[in-house]
Amino acid sequence: MSPDAITLLVRNVGELVTCDPARGEAPGVVRGAAVAAAGERIAYAGDESGLRGLAMADGVVEVDAAGMAVVPGFVDCHTHAVWLGDRAEEYARRAAGAGYEEIAAAGGGIAATIAATAPADTATLVAAARPRLARMIAAGTTTVEIKTGYGLALDAELRQLDATAALGDDPSLPATVATYLPLHGVPPGDRRSFLDEVCDVGLRQAGARARFVDAFCEAGAWTVAECERMLTAAASHGLRPKLHADQRSHSGGAMLAARHHAVSADHLEHATDADLQALAAAGTVGVLLPGAALVLGGPPPPGRRLLEAGATVAIATDCNPGTCWSESMPLMVSLAVATSGLTPAQALLAATRGGAAGLALDDRGVLRAGMRCDLALLSTSRWLDIAYHLGGPVVAAVIRGGRMVGPAPVTA
Ligand SMILES: [Zn+2]
Repeated sequence: MSPDAITLLVRNVGELVTCDPARGEAPGVVRGAAVAAAGERIAYAGDESGLRGLAMADGVVEVDAAGMAVVPGFVDCHTHAVWLGDRAEEYARRAAGAGYEEIAAAGGGIAATIAATAPADTATLVAAARPRLARMIAAGTTTVEIKTGYGLALDAELRQLDATAALGDDPSLPATVATYLPLHGVPPGDRRSFLDEVCDVGLRQAGARARFVDAFCEAGAWTVAECERMLTAAASHGLRPKLHADQRSHSGGAMLAARHHAVSADHLEHATDADLQALAAAGTVGVLLPGAALVLGGPPPPGRRLLEAGATVAIATDCNPGTCWSESMPLMVSLAVATSGLTPAQALLAATRGGAAGLALDDRGVLRAGMRCDLALLSTSRWLDIAYHLGGPVVAAVIRGGRMVGPAPVTA
């Protein structure tokens, strides 16, 4: 059988949303379309008439989209999805008026998640995260980035990286990208010696398991100088930088990200226009986390201002137990439109092509020949409903790497 023979065919697509700039006006919709995959890759995406002449493999899987819309699988480029423990009570206390800092001082916040997560072995971490990732793929996410940061001690951090790899090996879950986030919670002891260990040992050991390194650059967490020392050391271990920047205050994180040509700077609620222009000039993707911004009640993420500055924009869930427990990229698209000044088309691009840029992945997020065949088949004939139907079940089926993902078992 030819390696180019078609193994999967999705026909009768009402709106094929390619997110391909070559298709004209965003988000690059083709009506009456089809997608054909040879193995993991798209062999053809476009008008259904273009299927003629393609060689079909024996046993080609045919999917009838029944006139519904099809979009690229979402790329969720910022999550903390591997955690143990429960912070529902804290959520209720915060809703009743307790502040984030007040809760942290009482032993809640990140410290509570670290206490629950750090002792767990890899299998326990995988079991805890699996239902979250099952919900993600059921909602159309085909690639998810997962950060460490709930270990503090190096061995616990490495187990979180191993759990992320194991989750991504399961074809019924999204593909995973691992980020080492050693500077997240603050250790109870000497922070200087903690930082020494991260730079001298942690980065080397994490370097073989993670693609990116990240830090929480914020008042009450880690300073610009501390983050900068770690990012500088990370470069020699092949770990490209991402940064939690200017989320709760104007911490200087965005400028630090720009100085280091970080792959992304995330949150940015308190970034100035000069910060956003620096990110655009550095080629750093600005990642909007509208769910976390909404839960925390601060200013919305600067979506429109990032676009006006000329930056590439991504949207992610920030899925985490403290400030945004959501696995839904369609909901984040809705929130980005409602709160961050993006149009539905801009938000969809940010959730697909933008997310891929936020992970420096050039093989997904756009539907065209040669790209990975990661698709979300919608339950509606209009892609616009992703943004319009807040929290609606807009995704009917998902294809990851050219294979239909079975109905994912979803449990609480
Ligand atoms: Zn985060």
